Amino acid sequence: MKKNLLLASLIVSWGFSVNAQRQNNSTEYHSNTRFEQMGAALPTPNTFRSASGAPGKDYWQQKADYDIKAELDDSNQSITGIEKITYTNNAPEELRYLWLQLDQNVFSKNSNSNITKNTSINPSNGSSFNALGNLEGANDKDYGFKILSVKDIQGKDLRHSINGTMMRVDLPQALSKGMSFTLSVEWKFNIIDLKSIGGRSGYERFPKDGNVLYEIAQWFPRMAVYDDVNGWQHKQFLGQGEFTLPFGDYKVALTVPNDMVVGATGELQNSKEVLNAVQLKRWEQAKNTKNPIAIVTQEEAEAAEKGKPSGKKTWIYAAKNVRDFAFAASRKFIWDAMQVDVEGKKVWAMSLYPKEANPLWGQYSTRLVAHTLINYSKRTIPYPYPVAYSVHGSVGGMEYPMMSFNGARPEPDGTYSEGIKNFLILVVIHEVGHNFFPMIVNSDERQWSWMDEGLNSFLEGLTCLEWDRDFPATGIEPQYITDYMKLDADKQNPIMSSSDNIIPGTFGPNAYSKPATGLNILRESIMGRELFDYAFKEYARRWAFKHPTPADFFRTMEDASGVDLDWFWKGWFYGVEPADQAITNVEWLTIDSQNPGTLKAAAKADAEAKAQTLSNIRNKTDIKQTVVEADSSMRDFYNTYDKFAVTDADKKKYEQYLSTLSEEDKKLVESGKNFYVLSLKNKGGLVMPVIIRMEYEDGTFEDVRIPVEIWRLNDKEVKKTLITTKKVAKFKLDPYHEIPDIDTSDNAFPKEPEQPTRFQAYKQRGYGSGTPNPMQEAQRNKPAGIQNSGERK
Ligand SMILES: [Zn+2]
Repeated sequence: MKKNLLLASLIVSWGFSVNAQRQNNSTEYHSNTRFEQMGAALPTPNTFRSASGAPGKDYWQQKADYDIKAELDDSNQSITGIEKITYTNNAPEELRYLWLQLDQNVFSKNSNSNITKNTSINPSNGSSFNALGNLEGANDKDYGFKILSVKDIQGKDLRHSINGTMMRVDLPQALSKGMSFTLSVEWKFNIIDLKSIGGRSGYERFPKDGNVLYEIAQWFPRMAVYDDVNGWQHKQFLGQGEFTLPFGDYKVALTVPNDMVVGATGELQNSKEVLNAVQLKRWEQAKNTKNPIAIVTQEEAEAAEKGKPSGKKTWIYAAKNVRDFAFAASRKFIWDAMQVDVEGKKVWAMSLYPKEANPLWGQYSTRLVAHTLINYSKRTIPYPYPVAYSVHGSVGGMEYPMMSFNGARPEPDGTYSEGIKNFLILVVIHEVGHNFFPMIVNSDERQWSWMDEGLNSFLEGLTCLEWDRDFPATGIEPQYITDYMKLDADKQNPIMSSSDNIIPGTFGPNAYSKPATGLNILRESIMGRELFDYAFKEYARRWAFKHPTPADFFRTMEDASGVDLDWFWKGWFYGVEPADQAITNVEWLTIDSQNPGTLKAAAKADAEAKAQTLSNIRNKTDIKQTVVEADSSMRDFYNTYDKFAVTDADKKKYEQYLSTLSEEDKKLVESGKNFYVLSLKNKGGLVMPVIIRMEYEDGTFEDVRIPVEIWRLNDKEVKKTLITTKKVAKFKLDPYHEIPDIDTSDNAFPKEPEQPTRFQAYKQRGYGSGTPNPMQEAQRNKPAGIQNSGERK
């Protein structure tokens, strides 16, 4: 290509005068470290965690097995329980004490969470009771754990000390590697009212029928994680940073009023004792059905609402290799179920919901559970648990092993907006999806929200689109993260921030959509689907039932794909710079063929065009006859000489030039190809691949994809020459919206006309306010006599 450059000469440039330096195709070297390896930013690999991102040969983790007996008091909304924890130390070092988590203490008046909350009341705006209830000291209900006893297996009291949401239990003697210790803890607590306090679990009272629906989690003292990264992870629970828990086996006996329906983590062990004959028959039917079958129908649930318990029942559950245990109970529950084939294994997909959730829930919830299990299994590991629930109450969305609490309630008349329907689809997929991250791939949520929320939101986006290709999966599409990424640097945290430190109001984009979008960009635009999917699946395979860290994820994604992504982790996860690419200039070049015929014809056309001045045009009529026209003796050789005619000397010179060229060079010279030299700028800082669409004059187009490494020698400005046969009418960056470019006004050359800003002309404000519910409108406008199909019975 050397010769082309020497021969290049400018024919046309779009309104830019370009000087003789144009052959210089490179821009100045601009030193940058964006493509340097992460080095010390990642922990040094060791025998516990390898440099490949896989668990090392000496990887170890602790185990905590639970045997719990608890009773729900429906008259006081409280729980009492006793648990036997068998804790096995697999760490190379001995332990002299254990740390347990007391999450309910976050709701006590004097919790760190309440005291350190930034709060204010603006008297001129007033305050809702809900907001007031959230203020420390305003709510005088006695929340938090009451620890009644902590004993060893002989029943001897163990010394213990409560520090906020953590409790240290001192061991009578050090627990060395491979040894187990069994302790029992007795406790009780008042369940929080979700309507006044809000949270991940609690109860909801339905004023119309007076019944209560329980969604219960973080309800027993749970072992903290002890690992090779942090030792004990006993960072206080402040409310935002979620949980980090060891795996173990659970046996849980839940005693509730005998008219309640229960669902929980694990498999029900005594169905013959707690279900009646009709329910057991339906349960058998549900094993072989394409659609969910009601184990408890709406009619039965409504009858139970009106009745009273005549005693108690104990529901017994067992769960293997889980990190937590949650349950739901209410006499209001409708229960539907079906078995779904997940890679050759039958799994129960089930839902529990009150009549207030219908018709939406009956139609969708259990089907969404089944869809999620199949889709996530395909992209990670086959769902290993026997059961997965979706439960409706007033928790907006929360996950536990095999259990999920999901909001999305229709209007009292049974209609719902499209937003509520989409929220149901999203939230069920999301919360059931959490079974994989962090319930199975057990990352440290207290520290890294993105490791479960980000990865899960990414799979949630893909799974929503496999449910309905028109689903607005805005959480993974680059163009929707730009509002967040264009915030000033001090208004954002890097994704690699501790959960509780994330700036209020930005938790969603920081922990959910930015990491999820980043993974989608890796999959679609940087690694490609095949390499990405393989590496992502490998990460899940390596770390299923283990405790991965960010470095294990970053390293595995590179190790299994063969793609160096250090630049991406640095920019996207450790940085807050936005992407903003621009085309600042395009030079259009063609090769000067040196053919005198072409050259002189072009020169002639140029001279003729230049002669079309206003004076010349007017003179044609104004000057009747010039001297030269009137008097032939005033003419000579030059009055007839054609300086644009090709002479023999010209031809000879051209032939000589051609004789110096090879056949290939000749072809190129005669090809008439267009050379477009694009000046590209990285204004935002974040480096991204460059995707350019060339729109040709004939209406067709071609896309050029340039890997991100184009920025490796200069991360501010680069030049790129594109060679085409057809003439380009317009160059456009990022035609498929792959780059979260915060300013797209400079993405086309020539620049596109600005879109007008529309303003509303109105007589009265307020038209069309609120969430649109066309379903309700359609039903209201129905002629009388037609049944309202959406109404609950
Ligand atoms: Zn989540």
